[in-house]
Amino acid sequence: MDKNQLVEVRIEDFTRDGEGIGRADGYTLFVKDAVIGDRVLAKITKAKKSYAYARVEKVLEASPERVEPLCPEARRCGGCRFQEYDYAAQLRWKKRLVEETLGKIGGLWDIPVRETIGMENPFRYRNKAQYPVGCVKGEMAAGFYAGRTHSIIPVADCLLTPEIYSTILEETLSFFREYGISAYDEIGGEGLVRHLLIRSAFSTGEILVCPVLNGETLPKADEYVRRMREISGVRAVCLNINRKKGNVILGDRTVSLFGEPYITDFLDGLEFRISPASFYQVNPVQTVKLYREALAAAALTGDEIVYDLYCGIGTISLFLARAARHVYGVEIVPAAIRDAKENAKRNGIGNVSFYEGAAEDIIVRGYFEEGVPCPHADVVVLDPPRKGCDPALIDAVLQMGPERIVYVSCDPATLARDLRVFNDGAHGRKYSAVFAQPVDMFGETAHVETVCLLSNTQSKKKESYITLDVEMADYYRIKNEEKNSTT
Ligand code: SAH
Repeated sequence: MDKNQLVEVRIEDFTRDGEGIGRADGYTLFVKDAVIGDRVLAKITKAKKSYAYARVEKVLEASPERVEPLCPEARRCGGCRFQEYDYAAQLRWKKRLVEETLGKIGGLWDIPVRETIGMENPFRYRNKAQYPVGCVKGEMAAGFYAGRTHSIIPVADCLLTPEIYSTILEETLSFFREYGISAYDEIGGEGLVRHLLIRSAFSTGEILVCPVLNGETLPKADEYVRRMREISGVRAVCLNINRKKGNVILGDRTVSLFGEPYITDFLDGLEFRISPASFYQVNPVQTVKLYREALAAAALTGDEIVYDLYCGIGTISLFLARAARHVYGVEIVPAAIRDAKENAKRNGIGNVSFYEGAAEDIIVRGYFEEGVPCPHADVVVLDPPRKGCDPALIDAVLQMGPERIVYVSCDPATLARDLRVFNDGAHGRKYSAVFAQPVDMFGETAHVETVCLLSNTQSKKKESYITLDVEMADYYRIKNEEKNSTT
């Protein structure tokens, strides 16, 4: 196959990124903007030996699950791969993705996967936006990266975030333009403004605005604050300093220009302070459902010692503490641990302790290498970032031997890999998954969150190990090649 060639293809599935997969002439095609069930005329954008990338030139026969996208930029912007796919079908596909990933990568085909818990309205759910700032045709612009690239697509109003965010973005850009403040240029490393971070607390309406700078100060900062304060809800204006090259958005330092450098949100009656650098789930409506699932899976009676590893600002920890004897939270980001301690205080919850550091270091080094006896845990909650758990941590949790493990995951592939390790067991313990519950935290995108309950079943016989399926292996190879070619 050659670049620009037109090929007719039927879309059979999606990749984990939500691109259509089809087959033609012995090739696997990854077709952007196509949905399962479509028959499309696809234009090849890049051809390799056995697979090719393409985009939809024309929909020849629309899938019954194809819908009109609400956002006019849906195709150009990389954010919402699923805007042309019916929401109920998105939820079904996410369930199947979890099932198949647990099976193909973990060899765990028999875990009951429940129906995905969805939203009533999967738009305007995000409380956080990070707009890259750059130059488009010589003019300062901000918006989103066009899928897989670093070219900026100006988006006037992203339909995943509150409407007020577009006002803040517009006001900020016109302020920058008026005072000749430059945009950062990734290639040369010159220019001042890299990103604009906006965060808000849906329950209180508080908004935090934070430009990310390749420099120490913002010219005319007072005027910027004055303009931001005119926007209803803006409670905090901060600057984040990031002078390092690379893709990491936030730097280590945040300076407050106005208000306290955090906002306050409520989840299920609990109050949380959130600093700019701390992790906080982006979809508060679904977060409450997610945490209730995690809490139900933990099945606490009030008597348990619980570990919440990767605890962020202590959200899950405090949910659990209301029903446990004591909760220990561990988190690597210092600002998040400060928030977590403050949050325990604000809620008058005394049966929690928070530790700053990598979970694998705190648990492994703290308890095993320094000779402190292995801590007792009835329940361990794991909520790692996309890369999953460190193998040393899994080994330590196996040694701790809790009754139950609740694994909250934002990436089914690393969940599957880690469940396999728990399932294989060590130190005389084996953990089998009782169920997996997908929760849709990221509607209109291909991402899915999963809560998985593991229980200690030493007697359960080992399932046969199924190695990486060829298609999956192929897919990972492609992803790696892509990653290497864009960085
Ligand atoms: N449970 C929290 C946070 C989950 S996100 C919530 O629901 O809000 C994952 C968290 O793990 C982030 O806060 C991140 O800073 C933290 N983290 C990443 N690597 C870590 C590590 N090695 N040890 C401990 N925490 C880590």
